[in-house]
Amino acid sequence: MPLKIYRSKRNFGVTPEPKGINRERGSPPDGLLYVIQKHQATALHYDFRLEWGGVLLSWAIPKGPSLDPSVKRLAIATEDHPLEYGGFEGVIPEGEYGAGTVMLWDRGTWQPEDPDVENSLRNGELKFALFGQKLHGSWVLVRTRTGYPGRPGKPGWLLIKHRDQFASESDVLREQSRSVRSNRSLAEIAEDGHGNVAKAAKGDPIRGSRG
Ligand code: MN
Repeated sequence: MPLKIYRSKRNFGVTPEPKGINRERGSPPDGLLYVIQKHQATALHYDFRLEWGGVLLSWAIPKGPSLDPSVKRLAIATEDHPLEYGGFEGVIPEGEYGAGTVMLWDRGTWQPEDPDVENSLRNGELKFALFGQKLHGSWVLVRTRTGYPGRPGKPGWLLIKHRDQFASESDVLREQSRSVRSNRSLAEIAEDGHGNVAKAAKGDPIRGSRG
């Protein structure tokens, strides 16, 4: 029951997030789904999700991904999400788990370097290529020995860009801050979804990046 934890945290009568359906293992012909959702909850973070085994394996990245191979970004493993979550963008109502605004920040497919993904996850080193609209090329998730300080049971990983033609020192989070689904900012998504616009706006770049 890979979605049990996901469902236990949410009240589907209130939140617009998908409940998800259980699926058999197996990859679709179009490739494995990859998404990043920018989520302004209590704190801003980027939810990194990779389709595997009929669900979206998930990590929360407080600072978001970096294109710079010298930068390691902490990625906290979170509960598996349903595949339908990969299309979700909108407002999670106050009082609900993860309350705040969710933007579909990047979406595409991914490919593991080693087809034995279970083994890579167990060994704490998953190398893969991303074919997104914003993120491309070769990346790695490496599990840290210590886990995430102060969060027992939440394994800490590091997301690192490998050196290739897509490595860069440019700030992709700031330069491409809008939704790949709707081209909206977080504040605009909150406004349309009758959410907390002031809170959502804290996750948007301060100025000069509209349009
Ligand atoms: Mn989140």
